[in-house]
Amino acid sequence: MYFQKDFECMPRADLTKLQSQRLVNQVKYVYENVECYRKRMDYAGVKPEDIKGIEDLKKLPFTYKSDLRDYYPYGLFARPLTDIVELHASSGTTGKRIVVGYTKNDLDMWAGCAARMLSAIGATSDDIIQVAYGYGLFTGGFGLHYGAEKMGLTVIPISSGNTERQIETMIDFKATILACTPSYALYLAETAEKMGVVDQLKLKAGIFGAEPWTEEMRKQIEEKLHIKAYDIYGLTEIVGPGVAFECDHQSGMHVNEDHFIVEVIDPETLEPITEEGAVGELVFSTIDREGAPLLRYRTRDLGVVIKTPCKCGRKFVRLSKPKGRSDDMLIIRGVNVFPSQIEGVLLQYCDKGITANYQIVVDRLNNNDTLDVFVEMAPDLFADDMASIERLQKQLVDKLRSVLGIGAKVTLVNPNSIARSEGKAKRVIDKRKLV
Ligand code: ADP
Ligand code: ZN
Repeated sequence: MYFQKDFECMPRADLTKLQSQRLVNQVKYVYENVECYRKRMDYAGVKPEDIKGIEDLKKLPFTYKSDLRDYYPYGLFARPLTDIVELHASSGTTGKRIVVGYTKNDLDMWAGCAARMLSAIGATSDDIIQVAYGYGLFTGGFGLHYGAEKMGLTVIPISSGNTERQIETMIDFKATILACTPSYALYLAETAEKMGVVDQLKLKAGIFGAEPWTEEMRKQIEEKLHIKAYDIYGLTEIVGPGVAFECDHQSGMHVNEDHFIVEVIDPETLEPITEEGAVGELVFSTIDREGAPLLRYRTRDLGVVIKTPCKCGRKFVRLSKPKGRSDDMLIIRGVNVFPSQIEGVLLQYCDKGITANYQIVVDRLNNNDTLDVFVEMAPDLFADDMASIERLQKQLVDKLRSVLGIGAKVTLVNPNSIARSEGKAKRVIDKRKLV
């Protein structure tokens, strides 16, 4: 199902034309209204008139997270505060938070993007959505809320936390769609199992994002909650949730390209990557944002853009599951390791005695990096059966070595001994950064 079929299924040629027109206007608008962009474009020798269409995008300078920090709080806004009706801020996962402002039209555009993602998973006004993303400065709660409201769903604006109460509410209010981070979805599933009430849930789908998660994790959530789990992608800087969304084919997230242009660049050379299927850094430009427009924003997220047509009929390109941020990449003994690779291995063993709750600890001992993976045992693995625990640990060590190319120490810990997250999970503790 579509929310705005005319845009979602617009033929590519028309879409490119629309993107070009909007880009030209957006560039002129930021040049006139944002001092930082004016200076930067002047410095780069680019005038707004030089941008005649999407093919000229690469002439524009990049915007960095540090710009949002340097111009904190309002320096990059293109409108006076009288026109700004709402502020949001990033959750600050990677340092000082940044703030973004929305005009009334921006909020409407955002709600439309979020409504598209709900339509794409088959939601209708008969559905009841439990929004268990955090409400507040974080964009998750409000983004889903506005989208659901626009579509006429019944919204339960419960926000995150108070996990048993969440389950009771889901049952009592007969929620059919759950929206939260994937790690919180798993925690909710685990709690529902513990309460013995999974059968009483009426959920049919979940809409999960805001952090990296693997296909294995999707499988787990789907099995435990008896739902279909969809991935959504967004970031505060661009709009929040609603930048990209999965359709019912669950094969990559469609980018709302009539509002955002996505590029993939080589983070070293900064050159666009055009080769199909190649991993690179995702760069987004807003093209019809009023309050806080951003041109060529470097997200640090590594991903792949899929340009082949999707069976759903949408013409928007798709993002593969982002591999994580380049900032999340760990360099351990000189080898690049993504936490998602470790998660991928662990979740393959979830029916063999471990759970999906894990923590990665990296440290440095005698100038040598150490990698420790702590993972909770399943309650039915006998903690006193040392032989089977050791066997399982050894299997995990071997598998991790073959996937990562380096050795890791695996320790199975007692059920429920690793802290759960109600928002974005904190999976990695890098003690090398703490000293
Ligand atoms: P913060 O930067 O403080 O975490 P945000 O809430 O804006 O604040 O987080 C946006 C980031 O979350 C994205 O840049 C990306 O790294 C991550 N993210 C969001 N959705 C997904 C997703 N579906 N898959 C992987 N990563 C995601
Ligand atoms: Zn599709």
